[in-house]
Amino acid sequence: MGKIALAIHGGCGVMAKLDLSETDWAEARRDLGLSLKAGWAVLSAGGTALDAVEAAVVVMEDSPHFNAGYGAALNTDGKHELDASIMDGRNLEAGGVTLVRRIRNPIKAARKIMEAGDAILLGGDAADAFAAASGLDMVEPDYFTTERRVNALAAMKAHAAAGTAAKASESEKHGTVGAVALDAEGHLAAATSTGGYNNKPAGRIGDTPIVGAGTYARDGVCAVSGTGKGEYFMRYAVGHEVASRVDYLGESLEQASGKLIMEDLKSHDIGAGLVAVGADGSIAAPYNTDGMFRGWVTSEGKFFVATHDEVFALPA
Ligand code: ASP
Repeated sequence: MGKIALAIHGGCGVMAKLDLSETDWAEARRDLGLSLKAGWAVLSAGGTALDAVEAAVVVMEDSPHFNAGYGAALNTDGKHELDASIMDGRNLEAGGVTLVRRIRNPIKAARKIMEAGDAILLGGDAADAFAAASGLDMVEPDYFTTERRVNALAAMKAHAAAGTAAKASESEKHGTVGAVALDAEGHLAAATSTGGYNNKPAGRIGDTPIVGAGTYARDGVCAVSGTGKGEYFMRYAVGHEVASRVDYLGESLEQASGKLIMEDLKSHDIGAGLVAVGADGSIAAPYNTDGMFRGWVTSEGKFFVATHDEVFALPA
């Protein structure tokens, strides 16, 4: 069996340490651990990277602690419009959904679209209808709403009214979840899911469902999942750019992803982060904010999760 690797993120919209209770932090770390366990169970049983990233993302979509699925951000109309995508590094097949409102796990719909093998990206009501017809779990839109996101929307609206939107905390602004994996056959995959950012314009589509921007995977090179102000991930085609730097310039994953997050995106003063896994099993998880919900498993099967600088080892 070849080397396997897994890394996840729960967004770079991490609160200041004091904004959450110790219980909240512990629960967020627990859910990151559960996500890693779900993905690792697939990989260690010889399953595909594609199944692993989907399984890991589903756990975070179902957790209220991250901005995706249950607990997703609200747009300026107080509605949820969710985005997700998945990519298979084996053959560059991909699927995505955008502006969906009723699919409990948008990443599952992205996978179904990929498997249908024609369109890569479906949006809005048609995407919801496709998911329902595919037999996926459908929910009422208010299923996704949590008190934290209602408060974040109010805070963002207050910032907008006062002209202080740029000063909003990263957690008030955004978040996303994602996973990248290398399987025992040497294949790579990436998956990303988000509610976008709080108070986003109705109909706004971010980088998360856009292959090459928020999500990218190519066998022999790397798999990437991003979080942060999506407009800049699209402008820099971040996922594809990281892969290109690794492939064409021979940079390490750490160098290539660090260049994008710590130099290019940082130069615009926007919060950003990503997780990436290389064809050799290397892992990078740079972020330019105060923190990023993240986790990874070493090839020896050791689990680690983190929110800020401190890294927590989890019992196996
Ligand atoms: N990238 C997401 C978007 O722009 C948001 C985030 O990750 O913070 O929709």
